[in-house]
Amino acid sequence: MWIGTRGGLTKRRGVRRFRRGALSAWVAACGVCLPATMVLGQGDSTARTDEPEPATLVVTNALIATMDARNPRAEALAAQGEWIVAVGTVDQIALHVGPETKVIDAGGRLVIPGFNDSHCHFRGGAELLRSLNLYGVDTIEKVLALVKERVAGAAPGEWITGSRYDHTLWGDRWPTRADLDKVAPRNPVVLRRASGHSVWVNSLALERSGITKDTANPPAGEIQIDPGTGEPTGILLESAAGLVRVPRGADISPVERHRQRKDDLLAGLRHAAELGVTSVQSSSSLEELELVRELKADGLLTLRFNGWLRLADARGLTRRGIRSGDGDLWVRVGFLKGYIDGTLGDGTAAMFEPFADREGFLGLPTMTQAELDSAVLLADRNGFQIGVHAIGDKGVHMVLDAFQRARLANGQSDRRHRIEHAQVIHPDDIRRFGLLGVIPSMQQTHCTTDMRFAEKRVGINRCKTSYAWRSLLDSGAVLAFGTDWSVEPLDPMRGVFSSVTRTNIQEMQPKTGWFPEQKLTVWESIYYYTYGSAFAEHLDHVKGTLSVGKLADMVMLDADLFAIDPERILDVKVDYTIVGGRVVWDRARQRSGS
Ligand SMILES: [Zn+2]
Repeated sequence: MWIGTRGGLTKRRGVRRFRRGALSAWVAACGVCLPATMVLGQGDSTARTDEPEPATLVVTNALIATMDARNPRAEALAAQGEWIVAVGTVDQIALHVGPETKVIDAGGRLVIPGFNDSHCHFRGGAELLRSLNLYGVDTIEKVLALVKERVAGAAPGEWITGSRYDHTLWGDRWPTRADLDKVAPRNPVVLRRASGHSVWVNSLALERSGITKDTANPPAGEIQIDPGTGEPTGILLESAAGLVRVPRGADISPVERHRQRKDDLLAGLRHAAELGVTSVQSSSSLEELELVRELKADGLLTLRFNGWLRLADARGLTRRGIRSGDGDLWVRVGFLKGYIDGTLGDGTAAMFEPFADREGFLGLPTMTQAELDSAVLLADRNGFQIGVHAIGDKGVHMVLDAFQRARLANGQSDRRHRIEHAQVIHPDDIRRFGLLGVIPSMQQTHCTTDMRFAEKRVGINRCKTSYAWRSLLDSGAVLAFGTDWSVEPLDPMRGVFSSVTRTNIQEMQPKTGWFPEQKLTVWESIYYYTYGSAFAEHLDHVKGTLSVGKLADMVMLDADLFAIDPERILDVKVDYTIVGGRVVWDRARQRSGS
């Protein structure tokens, strides 16, 4: 094996003897007990202990952005099994190379901690990898052509399902069932909108679901009605989407279904590894966590999976002795997830003032304040971390109130409750994130996707404190970043690009960024996608920075994010993904087909 130096890195011969005090201080600061090993530092205080044990993995000749403020840059690191045991210069780390060590020469490429997607719907996203994907299709004609193609390959009467269409891409006119009827007269069609909060169906799907002009709106849902005819238009919002029941392969045996779910998850894992995602915090269930554990036991799990469960199940989970944080560093129970409102794209977020484009309408809150308070109080008392979906300013306010009341009633604790999305925030509520220690769990691409219609929907004033990353950081809050996959693609580069530029990905507008005062630096964008996300799952002591005593979860990129023009961030590819010291993605190998 060979350790070379290129790309402007310096190679120094000889390693100085080390001062024991420096090592203990470092290790103590990490809060983790480690085998005696080496440590790096700045200047001449670095050195080594007795001969270090050979590492299982060494990454060298790299530009390492550790995300650790005490030691932000390094050239090389060594891992022993799952753990990082040394971070330092090329020469220092060379001492860890033994005959069995796998050495990766980065050739001067950038290495950062693996991305931790703090909010995604992993199985849903994975499932969609094999269904009609309408993401980013920018005209209704193209959407209909894709549906027509599916219909041509289906038997009459067979359901056609698709998802991630976004009508705001083609002028914000809601599509109708008549549009779909033209291309699918004999097949029921149900297409889920990008947000996942509404569906667009054709006439046959309405008929099969028994939805007529006389069907009442379900609670917190709306069957959109044509004001002229009084007939359903084919758009079903929020809970009304649940009125459409697509028969799910009743002929599939449980064994077959189990296999299919496993296959879906494996496809999702491959996708994540390619994109450099080494941890996810995902909607889940106890059954699914069991399935993920099976994959782990089979040696097939290539990322760390934190699954969130339902807030409504707090009582039942408590009875079963289940808590947030149960599990291990691979498969874990996350927070309990609740919802307080809908979305901006669907026009169902809960607002203080009516939507700018819908007179008198304040959105669709899913719970009263009293209901939310008691659900939060109970879960908090039983030791759960809580994350509540809130998008409108009123929704966010209600959740902050509920968290504040729980804290008053149950006492202060390090629960790290979260607000999922936190998109439109009342100016007076921003500082409460910092004060209450509430984590805004945000998805940067929601900003750059929504900004095309946000001003029209909520008016320019409310946009000033929307997707307000900078203001939230100034409040003292720790952000956690993610994608909401499959609402948005899982690719972290889109998120980094979005928070650095606040420019939309479709048209690359506006050039200077939408409300540019809320932009973040490249460092911050990565930091809150790695360390911030780890903090949000109570795992910042073992994840999120490349430091001694933390897990060896990292990615190597084909370009230096800190040096390139921000517009090029979208083209950056992941060359290596390493999880727990094991290579789970190697682009060169993929290319050569080996
Ligand atoms: Zn979500």
